[in-house]
Amino acid sequence: MKKIIGIVGVPPLDIIRQINEEQGKIVDLDEPQLSLSMNREAYLPQVYCAILRTVMLNAMNMPLDKIYIDVGPGKCDCALHVSTVLQHVLTIPVITTRNRDSEGFGYPICRSNLPLIEKIQAITQGVQSCEPSPEYPPSVATAGFWGVPPRDFALLSLFPNNTHVYGWTRCMENKTPADMELESSCNPAVPTVFFAQSFCAKTALAKHLAELHPKGLYVDCDVNAGSSARAKIEAFLELSRGTLAAPTVSTTSINNDGPGDDHAAG
Ligand code: SF4
Repeated sequence: MKKIIGIVGVPPLDIIRQINEEQGKIVDLDEPQLSLSMNREAYLPQVYCAILRTVMLNAMNMPLDKIYIDVGPGKCDCALHVSTVLQHVLTIPVITTRNRDSEGFGYPICRSNLPLIEKIQAITQGVQSCEPSPEYPPSVATAGFWGVPPRDFALLSLFPNNTHVYGWTRCMENKTPADMELESSCNPAVPTVFFAQSFCAKTALAKHLAELHPKGLYVDCDVNAGSSARAKIEAFLELSRGTLAAPTVSTTSINNDGPGDDHAAG
C-alpha cells in the first residue's frame, strides 16, 4: 500500500526524489486538507502563523506514515518549533530538513498569464515533483503578488491574470526556497502587493520592500482575508490601473528582475 507522506515547506529535492521513487503519496500539510474548523487546533497559540496552525490541524487528523518538515533558512523558526511539538505529540516519524538546494529550475509559471489562483496551485503542486515547471510564454505584468502562498487562496481571485508572482512563492517554483536574493526581488515598474501571513517573520521584509517600492502595498492576513484587506487590495489594483510605465532604473535597493524577465506594460 502507498505510504502517505506529509510535507511542510519545500523539503530538499533528494527527499522528494526518494518519496517519488518509493511511490509514496505526498500530502502538502501547509494547505487546508480537511474541512475542520481552525478552532479544533489546540496545540499552538491562537496568535500564531495560520499556515502552521493548518499544518498541526492536518497532521493531527490525517492518517500519515511520516512527515518531512523543512525548518532551515528555506522555511522559518516557527516551523522548527512546530516540528518539536509534532515530534512530541505524534507517534509517526517527524523528520526535520534544512533545504539549501541552490540549482535554479526557473519560474515560468510566476510570469505566465494563468489566473493567479491557478498559478499558485500549480506552484505548490510542483513541489511534489523533481521536474521543472512546464514552459509558459511570459506575459506582460500589470500587477505583482509578492509573498508566500496565502492560507486563504480566495485573496488571489482579486488579482488580474497577468499578475507576476515574486517572493518565496517564486523561490518555491525555482526549487530554491532559501534564496534570499530571489525572495527579495521584484520589479519597481509593476504595482505590487507585498503579502505576508500575520505573525510571520516575513512581515518585516514584506513591509520593508513595500515601503521601498514606488508602487507597493503591504498587506498581512491571518486565517482568512478579511473585508478590510480585500478592500485595500481592490482599491490599490484599481488605482494602479493606468499607472504602469516602462521599467525604470530603481532609486531603491529593490532588485530588478533582470533584463528580459518581467515586462511592465508601457
Ligand atoms: S508564513 Fe511565515 S511563519 Fe508561517 S510557515 Fe511560512 S514562513 Fe513560517
